[in-house]
Amino acid sequence: MRSRVRRVGVAFGLAALLTVGGLSGVPGATAQQPAPDVVSLVRVDTPTTADVNRLVATGADVSEHRQPGSIEVFAHGADDLRRLREAGFTYQVVIPDLVAHTQRVLAEDEARARTMAPSPLPSGRNTYRTYADYGTELAGLVAERPDLVRPITLPHKSLLGKTVSGVEIAHDVAASDGRPVFLLVGTHHAREWPTAEVTMEFAIDLVRNEGVDPRITGLLRQARIIVVPVINVDGYDISRSYIHEYKRKNCRVRDGAGATPAQCADPDNAQVGVDLNRNYGVNWGGVGASTNPNSQTYRGAAPFSEPEVRNVVELVSSRQVTSLQSVHNYGSLVLRPPQQSTTPPTVDEPVYAAIGEALGKATGYRSIPSYQLYDTSGSTSEWAYFTTGAFSFEFELGGNNFHIPYQQGVIDQYLGIGSAENADGGVREALLVQYEVAANREHHAVLTGTAPKGARLTVEKSFTQYTAPVLRPDGTTGPRLPFPNVLTSSMTASGAFTWDVNPSLRPDRTGHLIAESWTLRCARPNGKVLQEVRVMVARGERATVDLSECHRKWRRR
Ligand SMILES: [Zn+2]
Repeated sequence: MRSRVRRVGVAFGLAALLTVGGLSGVPGATAQQPAPDVVSLVRVDTPTTADVNRLVATGADVSEHRQPGSIEVFAHGADDLRRLREAGFTYQVVIPDLVAHTQRVLAEDEARARTMAPSPLPSGRNTYRTYADYGTELAGLVAERPDLVRPITLPHKSLLGKTVSGVEIAHDVAASDGRPVFLLVGTHHAREWPTAEVTMEFAIDLVRNEGVDPRITGLLRQARIIVVPVINVDGYDISRSYIHEYKRKNCRVRDGAGATPAQCADPDNAQVGVDLNRNYGVNWGGVGASTNPNSQTYRGAAPFSEPEVRNVVELVSSRQVTSLQSVHNYGSLVLRPPQQSTTPPTVDEPVYAAIGEALGKATGYRSIPSYQLYDTSGSTSEWAYFTTGAFSFEFELGGNNFHIPYQQGVIDQYLGIGSAENADGGVREALLVQYEVAANREHHAVLTGTAPKGARLTVEKSFTQYTAPVLRPDGTTGPRLPFPNVLTSSMTASGAFTWDVNPSLRPDRTGHLIAESWTLRCARPNGKVLQEVRVMVARGERATVDLSECHRKWRRR
């Protein structure tokens, strides 16, 4: 802490001394040369997508904020700037010392908030939450409406031993039934504070409007929603407590080893860690991720090596998540697969694009396949879509930095007001639309039938997927790595059942469908299977399952 404060002071001094006229050239850009070890925001000239991909390949900390001819990059000290120049890139410095800049902005925010009326957000907040606030508020929602909200504890603790928590919200939330799930998560990337804010606000919004707003009340009857505001709990806490404010990744200091809070807070480890949005198995190891632990896009030692990623995987694999939203900032984008320019459009592209357009209309953001920003591999939405068929998206919220005043970064984005130009209802409306997508049976499949009252029903599917041909640090390419998947969900039958499931046909990366079936089992409560049925269903289809054998055996106790 001490050394960090000292360095901020040094940074001011150097920035004042090293004024270099040649670095200016864009409106709003300053002419100051950043000090040796501060984080600065620079605008790098990149006329084409190929230039952006070449920039990403250097391991630079590239933002999602791409404008015609340039993209913004976070330079972590003078070495990063030197590497940019050595790679042949030209740039303009936008903010020479981001930590000093945002601390000033947020101090103004706090001071202003003390004199302000509650904001129009569901919570009424005017300032960013702390890590502790999320735990308090999630528990508060459960206490407020235990019939509607139940706590979700993800299976794996973080590398620093923190519990990862969320809430599940639905009418009669404790019921064992076949309703589909909308999964909404924030903060895969530690510094993206507004993503946790908007997901938390949406949870509060739903709880406060149940029984008040007919649209929300109807959705909470038809489908469940799970909200996990902070996936990367260690990184978020480190960023939010200003230890490493611009930290993006998790606390994996060394491959295969745990970490202590002191190690993760160590300034020497500020750039180490795994990019959680490059660690998912589908297409893991391909272009658009790095083999270098110091790179901001480090993919990790192996697919799914990180507990924070396995948390999301196990959450999705144990339920029928029919739509997923992983919120990021910033860039004003709605991203969908595919994530690589060499991957053809998905088999669902027409309807996928139409949903993206609807989300884009609400937010005022541009809806594109992700590769049009730049190539990535191992991301959440690509894994979820190519594994389950769920319509999965990643927002890049609006704004011009990770930590901007709460009004612009959160209130305007959530409600689609003020600085959220072109919005029509904002992130709130977009999340309602996506919740409707999750509930809409045209977008997934339905199994119906009649089972003995009290019987345990499961649907399961197991299959093998592969990573990309794995790029090695020396630039050569190794073989694809196989990894197993098991998707299982279950419910207790109460006679006739209607089960919202993802299609059994699985989309592949060539733009086709793989003919797979669900295996539905009807069992006694002690687990003894009485009947097993295989059923193939496509998106939008409804299949009736004959469980007469289960009924017959059930009666023969
Ligand atoms: Zn992000």
